[in-house]
Amino acid sequence: MPDGRDRSALAPMDVAGRLARLRARFDDVGCDGLLVTSLTNVRYLTGFSGSAALLLVTANDALLVSDARYRDQAREQLEAAAVEATIEIGRPPEQLGALDRATKGLKRLGLEAGDITWGGKQRLEKRLSFLGSGGALVATEGLVEELRSVKDAGELARIELAADIADIALAQVKGRLRDGLTEAQFALELDFEMRRRGADGVAFPTIVAAGPNGALPHHEPSDRRIEEGDLVIIDFGSKVDGYRSDMTRTVCVGTVAAPELLDLLDAVLVSQRAGARAIRPGVSGAEVDAACRDSLERAGYGDLFVHGTGHGVGLEIHEAPAVAAGSTDILVEGAVVTVEPGAYISQVGGVRIEDTLVVTATGARTLTKSTKDTIL
Ligand code: ZN
Ligand code: ZN
Repeated sequence: MPDGRDRSALAPMDVAGRLARLRARFDDVGCDGLLVTSLTNVRYLTGFSGSAALLLVTANDALLVSDARYRDQAREQLEAAAVEATIEIGRPPEQLGALDRATKGLKRLGLEAGDITWGGKQRLEKRLSFLGSGGALVATEGLVEELRSVKDAGELARIELAADIADIALAQVKGRLRDGLTEAQFALELDFEMRRRGADGVAFPTIVAAGPNGALPHHEPSDRRIEEGDLVIIDFGSKVDGYRSDMTRTVCVGTVAAPELLDLLDAVLVSQRAGARAIRPGVSGAEVDAACRDSLERAGYGDLFVHGTGHGVGLEIHEAPAVAAGSTDILVEGAVVTVEPGAYISQVGGVRIEDTLVVTATGARTLTKSTKDTIL
């Protein structure tokens, strides 16, 4: 039985190698440095997990700036990850001063267009003197996110443990669906059990949607009681060292009161299998989406599948690659993605089945292993 607290046996993560992989991308995107503002990306590149930092990566150096709250933590986490970077601790004006000194001589400094704020960019424009000597700020998109989309053995081990903890927790508390709890109470039971099994926390706010509430794909658990006859959608995951799992199961409490949902259940199960089978290196996110969507369309329920098929999972619950219509993201070995078709009937209820899978050399391996048997 997994215990998330004992992580000594997990494969180590190669954090130190990531800066070199990022630098190798600079030429392609036309920059000679990148200012990383996304805290998730800072964590990925350095191991630093605090709530405030900027990371400047240039051809030969890296500079992490943060504030006094993180003086010791920053040093300890970068050391533990064997990351070579200078650390500057200070208030925002001092941080900008350090960035100014470290960017002298740069020609084109990349910013993370999907993350930095308008105000943040303006502060840099005022303060960075290399801009006055022919330098420029350039927009980059998804540079670090692309690196993050392929997981190393240490990252996979953590996502797998997060999935195992969620599996065990659901098996432990599923029987309580018969106890007359509210959706919110059942969600709390599940969250508590994941923490008790050693998860650092939930991967995202747990979704429990019973009966007609199942028609809302992202329903927030309410004080509605779970009753005999409900079909219940449970969408949840746990977190280990920042790495997340994501799984949805749909469960019948007794005999389902809305029999039209039973046909949906079968159709969504078939669709989910079709999507999982479509995964292998070289296919696009759009192709996996089409496998799920075509299956539901053949069953006559295409109109009821109102969202994308899935998403990458890692340090964030939604990350690259996208598994949706129109997604040109190509799945490669080591990518971790979800396949989660669903079908929803307004005012009546819904069905969703989701697994987290890792792309292997020849196909995919499912990390979330809870039974898809819908009977309690
Ligand atoms: Zn989910
Ligand atoms: Zn998901």
